[in-house]
Amino acid sequence: MRTVLLGAPGSGKGTQGVVLSKKFNIPQISTGDLLRAAVKAGSELGKQAKSAMDAGALVSDDIVIGLIRERLSEEDALNGYILDGFPRNIPQAEALDSMLDQLGQPLQGVVLLNVPFEELMQRLTGRRTCKDCGAIYNVHLSPPKKADHCDSCGGDLFQREDDNEETIGNRLKVYEEQTAPLIGYYKNQHILHTIQGTGDVDEITSAVGAVFDTI
Ligand code: AMP
Repeated sequence: MRTVLLGAPGSGKGTQGVVLSKKFNIPQISTGDLLRAAVKAGSELGKQAKSAMDAGALVSDDIVIGLIRERLSEEDALNGYILDGFPRNIPQAEALDSMLDQLGQPLQGVVLLNVPFEELMQRLTGRRTCKDCGAIYNVHLSPPKKADHCDSCGGDLFQREDDNEETIGNRLKVYEEQTAPLIGYYKNQHILHTIQGTGDVDEITSAVGAVFDTI
């Protein structure tokens, strides 16, 4: 099942990706996670990516396309995957299409998580992530039972460096200008499914899962 979760920063791609990856037993592949790991490891690639990430801008297409090409060739991606945060613009989507066409394994579904713009800021400023299992909480909307600790594994929760108001504003602008055009791109390919990304998290998971079941 070769899928993409599409949506603005804070629309719930990461949250849904973690749960759906377990449910469907396919990896969630997040370019944001891959880039953060490269920054943390201090690799050359991480150094090149860091300034764009700190500013809330896009990292160069060459870097992220290279990361995806490598990641999709790993064995656990052979049965499918959920892409989260990639593609982020039309050139990336075209590069992905040509990569997958060469393998004869085109994308099968793109799910757009639709969240009103006003709600995104609140979600992003309150977001906390478990450093051990990647579970995502929100101190305003879905706080953990014990402050700063993960309900599922007890790991420490942290706030992403780029979840500050200034960077968030830029990331949302980048989404509108560069990523939102992908909605039309995938509509034209007849593989776009739109899900309302607000309300109960489990209900959203069921709705996305129902789409995945048809793929
Ligand atoms: P995310 O975790 O998906 O919100 O990504 C965090 C940051 O990583 C973004 O603000 C970008 O700076 C960078 N990034 C992640 N995915 C991509 C991508 N597909 N293309 C360019 N930059 C990306």
